[in-house]
Amino acid sequence: MQRVYSSFNLAAVHHAKNVLQAGGIRAAVRNEHLSSAMGELPPAECQIELWVLRDEDRVRAEALLRDGPQKRGAAWRCAACGEACEPQFTQCWKCGAERGS
Ligand SMILES: [Zn+2]
Repeated sequence: MQRVYSSFNLAAVHHAKNVLQAGGIRAAVRNEHLSSAMGELPPAECQIELWVLRDEDRVRAEALLRDGPQKRGAAWRCAACGEACEPQFTQCWKCGAERGS
């Protein structure tokens, strides 16, 4: 598992999880109930964390969280390596080639 996001804002973390799930990435929220212990633990220990279940999803997950799922369109196939890529990416997630190159 890899941590891809953390925040004190539970709603933000759940939103991020929904974004990932919409992108087909399985994710889990950690420390969801720890925030009630605020004041007893250092604040950095109380952030709610979002983890992807598969390590190999981390790069895609970070791209999704950074760019958002708003760019909809048809999936495309990388000309360099033939990998099928999600429409919101401008680069191949596998080999890094630019879309349409
Ligand atoms: Zn590629």
